[in-house]
Amino acid sequence: MALKGTTCVERTRIALANAEQHRDRNAFVELFAEEALQRAQVLDKKKSEGGSLGALFGVIVSIKDVIAYQGHSLTACSKILDGFRSVYSATVVERLLEADAIIIGRTNCDEFAMGSDNRTSIYGPVKNAIGNNKIPGGSSGGAAVSVQVGACDVAVASDTGGSVRQPAGLCGVVGFKPTYGTISRHGLIAYGSSFDQIGLLGYDLSQLEMVFEVIKGRDDHDATLIDTPDHTPFATDEPPRIGLMQNALEHKSLDPHIKESIQKLTGDLQSNGASVETFAFEFLDYVIPTYYVLASAEASSNLSRYDGVRYGYRAEEAESLDDMYRKTRTVGFGDEVKRRILLGTFVLSYGYYDQYFGKAQQVRRLIRDELQVQLDRYDYLILPMSPSVAWGIDEVKSPVELYLADIYSVLANLAGLPAMSLPLWTNKSGMPYGLQILGAPFQEKKLLFHAREIMSSHEKR
Ligand code: GLN
Repeated sequence: MALKGTTCVERTRIALANAEQHRDRNAFVELFAEEALQRAQVLDKKKSEGGSLGALFGVIVSIKDVIAYQGHSLTACSKILDGFRSVYSATVVERLLEADAIIIGRTNCDEFAMGSDNRTSIYGPVKNAIGNNKIPGGSSGGAAVSVQVGACDVAVASDTGGSVRQPAGLCGVVGFKPTYGTISRHGLIAYGSSFDQIGLLGYDLSQLEMVFEVIKGRDDHDATLIDTPDHTPFATDEPPRIGLMQNALEHKSLDPHIKESIQKLTGDLQSNGASVETFAFEFLDYVIPTYYVLASAEASSNLSRYDGVRYGYRAEEAESLDDMYRKTRTVGFGDEVKRRILLGTFVLSYGYYDQYFGKAQQVRRLIRDELQVQLDRYDYLILPMSPSVAWGIDEVKSPVELYLADIYSVLANLAGLPAMSLPLWTNKSGMPYGLQILGAPFQEKKLLFHAREIMSSHEKR
């Protein structure tokens, strides 16, 4: 549901009321109610006095609990960060506030953003606002639900292997992951640094684009950032050239309804004048092993800083320093995080490094190069967002089953590409599923333009 209301105060009240009304969904780990209302008052006053208004004046934003906000708790939904308060704000938070946005609260997610169904959070699982007891997807399940229930206009989250787009697809909202290196990671809790990317969820493409414009761009705190000078809007009358990843559609894990919907859509696009060609992506079966080897390796290194000394939780009654580290990490991390640390440490260890980590890096390069070849041919690529709709919160899934569900989402991160999930469909039981589109690096404007075209032509049918 889109947020209504005219003044900042009125809109903030509505957002807070919506969040309260859907408290059972567990989308927020904390609402900044008082603070948001105060800020809304200040903004309204500024407007009534004729002050100059920021580009995001009154836009209500939620932030995932992996994004630092000075003076506020920050936990990555993990026990190990229990009690930790951030001493500085992430660059994205600073830019949002400078542009007069209102931050409404911190959203729930999988522990350290590791997961695909938001069931590993220390604060408990998040429930999809659609369906009966369904997962919202992950890791940014809280972010997706905060949009679904009208508790914000835009949710700011992170996407390491699909965490913005996959929950967006499963919750029926738009998910947008820009090119790696366009938005500062300063103040984002690191998971897999060469994959991590801030992304946005919402309903309104223009609003997502506006937020993107405000938060992107060079930042001295993040050396991987590239300035993208092109602010001009993209528009064309040329019919798009679209590449359809055929073997992704033929994959055995894909729900046949999703395949049919995509085929019907590409047929419609063709009758509107688009050229649609199919191609086979020969590395499809390698994307999951490659991603999980590399992301876990990076995670094992990034998470070594949580040792009980510097941040959050510390085990009491330790006999020695080593014992304190061990106890802190044993109690502080959940099972999934431990599994990744173990896997990551193994693939980086002496004797296995070349076999696993080195090999995965080589395959990553092949994946990237192959996608680039396709992106030189086509304006954008089409593939499913997820193999299925949202599953039940109580459904038992093995870790490997969960990893395999990321088959379509990790590609964009392996190659650093901009990608979106568009909420086009629901199945017979009303559960949403999305279309994924992938663009060439730094062509966000073009991707957003085509996203708009797809959505509006789909609405007309
Ligand atoms: N599901 C993937 C993982 O667990 C992606 C998570 C993410 O994008 N943060 O690694």
